[in-house]
Amino acid sequence: MLCRELNHSKCKTYLVACENARTAVLIDPVREKEGLYLGALAYFGLRLEMIVDTHTHADHRSGAHDLADITGAQLVMHRKAPSPHVDRHVEGGERLRCGNVELEILHTPGHTPDSISVHVADRVFTGDALLIHGTGRADFAGGDPGEEYDGIVGKLFKLPDSTIVLPAHDYRGHTQSTIGEEKRSNPRVAGRTRAEYINLMNNLNLALPQGIQEALQPNESDLESDVVNFPTYAQLNAVHQLAPVEVRARLERASPPILVDVRENEEYRGELGHIAGARLIPLGELAERGPRELSDAKDHEVVVICRSGMRSTTGGAMLTAMGFERVWNLKGGMLEWNDAGLPVDR
Ligand code: FE
Repeated sequence: MLCRELNHSKCKTYLVACENARTAVLIDPVREKEGLYLGALAYFGLRLEMIVDTHTHADHRSGAHDLADITGAQLVMHRKAPSPHVDRHVEGGERLRCGNVELEILHTPGHTPDSISVHVADRVFTGDALLIHGTGRADFAGGDPGEEYDGIVGKLFKLPDSTIVLPAHDYRGHTQSTIGEEKRSNPRVAGRTRAEYINLMNNLNLALPQGIQEALQPNESDLESDVVNFPTYAQLNAVHQLAPVEVRARLERASPPILVDVRENEEYRGELGHIAGARLIPLGELAERGPRELSDAKDHEVVVICRSGMRSTTGGAMLTAMGFERVWNLKGGMLEWNDAGLPVDR
């Protein structure tokens, strides 16, 4: 097995390859460095089979979509990933294969709901869940310090002590560590109970990364920011969230809300289906089509829908800015709607 970190910067991208089959996996490619990755693949004589994004990144644009496009490699992310263009959704416990290399997926949410770690032979790629002598912040939308603790202590710390830890970020010049070393000396987790960890993480008071919305919303939607004028953080936070059962209850009223589904056409008719009567306007077309096609909805209740509730929050903020006054977001999107066992059309 060949394993290389390619960026040599704070943000890590790993190339993992089977030298027999000459096939490769890229973990967490960064957008500005696609040329470097293609060069490395050519240099080593490898065909890119899979791209894994360990989570929806908030601090940089992912290179995954472009690279999947160029190479035909499969983009792999957790089922809860909001992006419309994931080729293969995985859950914890699944095993993927690249030549003779086996990748075991561990669901380690908390930094984001879609965070995974990838266990390969004697090493584990921990994304932003477990960092070297640190852990990923859990204060973004969908973050959860308790879940983060459970993933780190309950899953990653169950791997053999000698397992090499390879995180998606390192801000302090560390290059590698082991599970044993982190168990003993990780300053956030070692010796702390779950409650102590939650308390610590809820009181870090970190500033938001610069340009978070410029990275996060395009990564969630796979749209360019010049196509959609993405709402600000404050506008996103102002969108009201409604759980699936609450949306369902409102649909049974005499004057039910108008449903606007902002996913892509394939998703609307895909595995998760859609709610009966939902009008399909993909997020990238909402600015143009919204005012025209939803003119009857201006002072009506509107519920915006997507896969995981992230793109639709963007959609909800856009509609609010267009003057729609009673906009709600389906919290958790069609994933939670399906998980709640509510009816779908296909
Ligand atoms: Fe991250």
